[in-house]
Amino acid sequence: MSIIIHPIKAFSDNYIWTLINDVNKQAIVVDPGQAEPVIDYLKEYGLDLTAIWITHHHHDHIGGVAELREHFPMTHVVAHSEHGVKPDQTIKEGSSVSAWGASAQIWDVAGHTASHMAYVLDIDSQKHVFCGDTLFSAGCGRVFSGTIEQLFNSFKRLNTLPKETLLYPAHEYTANNLRFGLSIEPENIAMQAALEVAIEQTANNRATLPVTLDHERKVNVFLRASEPEVIEGVKAKVSLPDEKPLTVFAALRELKDNY
Ligand SMILES: [Zn+2]
Repeated sequence: MSIIIHPIKAFSDNYIWTLINDVNKQAIVVDPGQAEPVIDYLKEYGLDLTAIWITHHHHDHIGGVAELREHFPMTHVVAHSEHGVKPDQTIKEGSSVSAWGASAQIWDVAGHTASHMAYVLDIDSQKHVFCGDTLFSAGCGRVFSGTIEQLFNSFKRLNTLPKETLLYPAHEYTANNLRFGLSIEPENIAMQAALEVAIEQTANNRATLPVTLDHERKVNVFLRASEPEVIEGVKAKVSLPDEKPLTVFAALRELKDNY
């Protein structure tokens, strides 16, 4: 099957990930915080919007839904009951959604918000994960209505995916996240190299995403909370009651909040 996945830019640093079926000229968008850039893009390429997938209720992820519904009346809105849109299909942990015969499993990856879904889409055995504001390249979402324990467990779960899994976060925060990571692990060569690439891509107006899970395991301090270098880097900044991965993860999140 041929599905193209393309980021439509919105606001200053959001990506509205767009799944395009080149054969029937249909499209699915994930988290359309704005309608206009989506309408413009679909018009330019002669595409019809058939579905909207929502990860969580924040305005920069749902703000364009009402207008897109008006513009494309056949659009099927997929969301959790707490996402602030009236879903045509209500999802929760364990649900599945289809995209032209491919199937996406719904994972509850709470933490950033209390109700945050990830879409784990399988296309010809390659997994593509639309993870919203849970995991960013080299970073993670802030804890708003969820808890740090939930976010930690969501990271643990995402880390069980095959290493070649492609991750599609909803924001371009990569370069800044890598700078934070290097403040913890200054000697991490993979992070240093990734920062150089991210700076170059950003300067050329190109997305640093998607990223593989394998890459994230090397450059994302939040996935590296058990690594001795990360524990040492955190302890150089704050005192820890213990060195459990959750303790280190929570300390990292707090350090990043104030970075
Ligand atoms: Zn959010």
